[in-house]
Amino acid sequence: MTQVEHPSAPAPAPAGGAAARLADIRAAMDQACRDAARPVGAATLIAVSKTFGAEEIWPIIAAGQRVFGENRVQETRDKWPGLRQRQAGLELHLIGPLQSNKAAEAVELFDVIHTVDRPKIAYALAEEMTRQGRRLPVFIQVNTGAEPQKAGVLPEAADAFITECRDKAGLDVRGLMCIPPVEDVPAPHFALLAEIARRNGLPGLSMGMSADFEVAIHQGATHVRVGSALFGTRPRPA
Ligand SMILES: *Cc1c(COP(=O)(O)O)cnc(C)c1O
Repeated sequence: MTQVEHPSAPAPAPAGGAAARLADIRAAMDQACRDAARPVGAATLIAVSKTFGAEEIWPIIAAGQRVFGENRVQETRDKWPGLRQRQAGLELHLIGPLQSNKAAEAVELFDVIHTVDRPKIAYALAEEMTRQGRRLPVFIQVNTGAEPQKAGVLPEAADAFITECRDKAGLDVRGLMCIPPVEDVPAPHFALLAEIARRNGLPGLSMGMSADFEVAIHQGATHVRVGSALFGTRPRPA
C-alpha cells in the first residue's frame, strides 16, 4: 500500500511513532486479555523508561500513558521531578534492585516498589514509609529460576518471606514479581509465580516484558513491564 503525501501536510511529529507503538501494545494487551477470558484492562502497562531521557518519555506521556517503570534511584531523581511538574497523576514503579541506603530516596521518588527481596530491604522500606508517612504498595521479587546472579527470594523461601514482610515489617504487599532466565521459556516461571501468589492470597503479578507480555497476561499478569517494544532499543545497557 502506498501512502499519499499531501504537500502541505506537516512533517510527522516525533510523538506519532511513540503514540502508535503505545496503541499497538495496548491493543495487544487487550487482545491477550480477551484470549485469556480475562476482562480487558485486567493488566496494567508499566512503560519501562530506563536509559531514555525526558524528551523521549514526554511523547509517551502526551499519548496518555501514566504508569512508568525505572530501575535506578539516581536516574529517577534526575529525570522525573520535571516530568511530574509537567503532568499530574504520574505513577512511578521501581523495578530494579534496591540498596537499603537508598530506601529513603526510593520511598520519596516512587509510588510502587517491585523488588523487595530480603529482610534488610523490607525493614528499611518499612521504616522509611513510617517516617515519611507514605505507605507504598510493594511487590516481592521471586528468583523463579534460582539464578545465582539474580535478585529475588528463592521460590522455596518465598512463603516465609512474604509472611515476614506482611506481619513483621508491616509492608503493604500487593503481589509478586519475577524476571525469568533469558534462556528459558517464560511460561513455567509465570505459572510458578502465580502459584506462589495464589497460595499466599496475593492478587498482584508483575511479570512479562516486551518479548513475552502476552504470555504473561495469559498466565494472570496484573502488571506487565514493557520497555524496548515501546521506546525502541535502549541507547546503553540498563
Ligand atoms: C528493563 C526491564 C524491563 C523491560 O524490558 P524490555 O525487554 O525492554 O521490555 C522489564 N522489567 C525489568 C525488571 C527491567 O529491568
